[in-house]
Amino acid sequence: MLRSGKEHLERLRDGRIVYVGSERIDDVTAHPLFRNAARTVAAIYDMKADPANRETMSFAADGARHSMYFLQARTPEDLRRRMRAHQAIADMTYGMLGRSPDHVASFVTGMAMAPGVFGTGSRPFADNIAAYYRHMRDNDIYAAYAVVPPQAARNPEFYVKQNLPVPTLQVVREDDDGVVISGMKMLATAAIFADEVWIGNLIPLAPDQVKQAVTCAVPCGAKGLTLWSRQAFAAKSEFDSPLSWRFDETDSMVMCENVKVPWERVFVMDDALLAREIYIRTPAHCYGNHQSNVRFWSKLRLIVGLASRVAQSTGADQIPAVRELMGRLAALEATLAGMIHGQIEAWERWPEGYATFNRRMMYAALNWCTEMYSPLIDILRELSGGGVFQMPASVSVMHDPHLKTLFEGYWQTPQMPALDRIKLFKLVWDLVGSEFAGRHQQYEKFYAGASFIVRNHNYREAPWDHFHRYADGLLASYGVPEA
Ligand SMILES: Cc1cc2nc3c(=O)[nH]c(=O)nc-3n(C[C@H](O)[C@H](O)[C@H](O)COP(=O)(O)OP(=O)(O)OC[C@H]3O[C@@H](n4cnc5c(N)ncnc54)[C@H](O)[C@@H]3O)c2cc1C
Repeated sequence: MLRSGKEHLERLRDGRIVYVGSERIDDVTAHPLFRNAARTVAAIYDMKADPANRETMSFAADGARHSMYFLQARTPEDLRRRMRAHQAIADMTYGMLGRSPDHVASFVTGMAMAPGVFGTGSRPFADNIAAYYRHMRDNDIYAAYAVVPPQAARNPEFYVKQNLPVPTLQVVREDDDGVVISGMKMLATAAIFADEVWIGNLIPLAPDQVKQAVTCAVPCGAKGLTLWSRQAFAAKSEFDSPLSWRFDETDSMVMCENVKVPWERVFVMDDALLAREIYIRTPAHCYGNHQSNVRFWSKLRLIVGLASRVAQSTGADQIPAVRELMGRLAALEATLAGMIHGQIEAWERWPEGYATFNRRMMYAALNWCTEMYSPLIDILRELSGGGVFQMPASVSVMHDPHLKTLFEGYWQTPQMPALDRIKLFKLVWDLVGSEFAGRHQQYEKFYAGASFIVRNHNYREAPWDHFHRYADGLLASYGVPEA
């Protein structure tokens, strides 16, 4: 089934409880802090459901059409189809939505390609993950996830020693019809606009953290679940803060107070090791983070396009050193494009009968994106100079005839009319300097875990035996020179 945008917005009016500070938001589709981003999400659903995009955005299975990101690839062409669908979503949102509907859905799709992994723990749940995948696919479900314990609570010993309650989400009771969970998890980006939140553990737990080793899915409107949002980015107008206006995907702490989860929505219990391995021993992490790579690529193209426009607007594009910088940006964009296409060309037949993006290349791109975002933004910042603050506080100057005349006369340059300049620089500031921009710098550094976690994935997947043999071959090819 392909849901329309209107249907999606209706689904968000499910009684979910969202707090912004002490303010309780009753309807996220209508509240000024959230309604614009809700519309952006709705537009993604409309784009997917548009018959003109049928072949790119959906596939047929079991007598219905489903969003392309639920496709379990069997060939490289299937992987290509997934990539194009991610790209269509990322392009329409300029790479600004990290947890668009295709992110967690790709994780679940990957997990359901190896359900046997869920059957190996102390309490097997292979059927549950297969059924949850079908539920998501057949109802076009948007899931967000919270898969990290709150900061500083990764080692419960510190809390226990000081007699403090452990804040991390854990199982507090088991009943015939399900488990009851309480506690906190970070940091569910986009949960405010999603149907469900996937709760789990993407970073390792200690073997004795058994009660925290629960993986489950919960509707965002579930009784006892509250979403504690960070400060939302209240934009004054679309013209003055175009990215904050449309694309604040939100980040929330997930708080559970005795939330009942039916058994069929539990995927891991009492197994600290398996709680993390489900992401790595299935294509989940690879499918989900391939989406992240493609999404970053869209954002990178916006950065490169804006950098060039800014250089044109100041006339700096005529300077050889600036042209060289543009060449560097273009090379960086093509580098990521190559890393993404390479993941398909060097695809892996894994697991049995399925196709997966090349894992090492996916992790390499993940590391590249994490490392490169701040330097890329810095280039755009540097090119912009003080132009961003030369502009009036808002475009409202155009509403006053006298100010308008002055503005249009004095702010124009030989390269650009005044109105085009303010439009360009307001957008650039929202990407390099606004509160929205600062959040994106944090996001790009941490969305897949801190940098040492991302590098650990690269370390784990590397063929060290091959590297050693290769280096040893050269070492073995010569000896001590004769005296
Ligand atoms: C904007 C944003 C959106 C997010 N969205 C989501 C989401 O949708 N779902 C979700 O589950 N999570 C999300 N996260 C959370 C993200 O997964 C975590 O931020 C990430 O795992 C890092 O954890 P932390 O923030 O607690 O940082 P910490 O683990 O506390 O690390 C902070 C810093 O401490 C240092 N450090 C700590 N431990 C070590 C170590 N062992 N070795 C070396 N250095 C170390 C490093 O400098 C590191 O960068 C999001 C985070 C941000 C910022």
